[in-house]
Amino acid sequence: VNHVVVVGAGLAGVRTVEALRGRGFTGRITLIGQERHRPYDRPPLSKAVLSGESDTSFVDIDLAAMEVDFWAGVSAKSLREGVVETTEGELGYDGLVIATGTEPIRLPGDGPQHVLRTLDDAHELRAMLVPGARVAIIGAGWIGAEVATAARRAGCSVTVIEAAATPLATAVGTEIGARTEPWYDGIDLRLGTMVDSVDEGGVRLVGGEFVEAHAVVTGIGVRPAIEWLADADIDLHNGVVTDEHLRASLPNTVAVGDCAAWWSPRWRTRLRVEHWDTALNAPEVAAATLLGEESVYDPVPYFWSEQFGHMLQYAGHHPAGERLVYRGEPEGKWSAVWLTGDDTLAAVLAVDRPRDLVQGRRIIEAGHRLDTERLVDPQVPLRDC
Ligand code: FAD
Repeated sequence: VNHVVVVGAGLAGVRTVEALRGRGFTGRITLIGQERHRPYDRPPLSKAVLSGESDTSFVDIDLAAMEVDFWAGVSAKSLREGVVETTEGELGYDGLVIATGTEPIRLPGDGPQHVLRTLDDAHELRAMLVPGARVAIIGAGWIGAEVATAARRAGCSVTVIEAAATPLATAVGTEIGARTEPWYDGIDLRLGTMVDSVDEGGVRLVGGEFVEAHAVVTGIGVRPAIEWLADADIDLHNGVVTDEHLRASLPNTVAVGDCAAWWSPRWRTRLRVEHWDTALNAPEVAAATLLGEESVYDPVPYFWSEQFGHMLQYAGHHPAGERLVYRGEPEGKWSAVWLTGDDTLAAVLAVDRPRDLVQGRRIIEAGHRLDTERLVDPQVPLRDC
């Protein structure tokens, strides 16, 4: 490989650049990023940046020192084997990294609609979060919950509109979601409520009711940013399809981060994970594969969320579980644990119990069985169950 083109200058893209150089690749690297900013981390956008504690979250990396040709504000428009068509013309490659991430889904309607994906989005939204402002947040998933946290703290009058029966329902199911409902104290939480459109001055609900708002934030999920690959000869299915080496179906091509749907031997299914830990760690494997080295990406997925004063941490893949067991009462610190039919640990969600997360992640990696009677006692460390 002589010239690697990395499309997407988010964390996954920039970490792949770092991993290529770390593995001794001395050829040419071109990094293409749609945004005008240099690479930054997104988790702080809905936390420290939105609350005003910090203004930026740039990744600590010196692209010039790494001899990377960084094209900021340039988009890839299409791909054919060996050539990326960009908004600045064609670019030949002999190694390609697809790291275009995801983009927020928007709702119908002509009214102004905030989303929270980019640093610019975060700054725009932050300016709206002033005391007394009416803020309507659509979606009580991870992003919705974190934005609601910041808006309530800023003294806004907050409405959260969620189609499902509880918050976090799509992510972790309604049973666990119900445990988080009391956290929405002081927030007008509308569950089982569908939005028709975002209009000037607020949100029109299905059924006709109008929720007035100075700012509307849509947090209903994201989709892989792969439209530019629509005409390329590459397998796409809920993202860029790859094997466990992150190799895509086009020669000399890997996909990594939020946009990659990789085969997981561990879970015997294809996974596409929209979380920071994957963007951080999968690039080592993507770089190795591109350089012809043997490497497999098959993690126990991990993420966290900070909402309403709670730290939520998750490890595993709960669809592999059959039974849900709790450690601790909903009012305090608790964990939810998913077990398979033979009592091995499939996933753990720890709420303000970081030890359960750390120990649970190791247990999942090792594939150990647990004693369910000990498990329900929150005093017994998970590793002793
Ligand atoms: P992205 O970060 O999406 O980067 C992809 C880049 O590619 C973007 O800059 C995009 O502009 C660019 N791009 C797209 N299309 C093109 C194109 N055609 N040409 C050129 N460039 C293109 N995860 C957690 O685990 N915990 C958290 O607490 C957490 N909080 C989050 C909070 C927010 C507000 C957001 C938005 C995400 C959060 N995440 C969190 C998720 C985490 O940030 C993502 O998983 C991670 O950013 C994925 O990195 P990526 O590089 O794959 O994709």
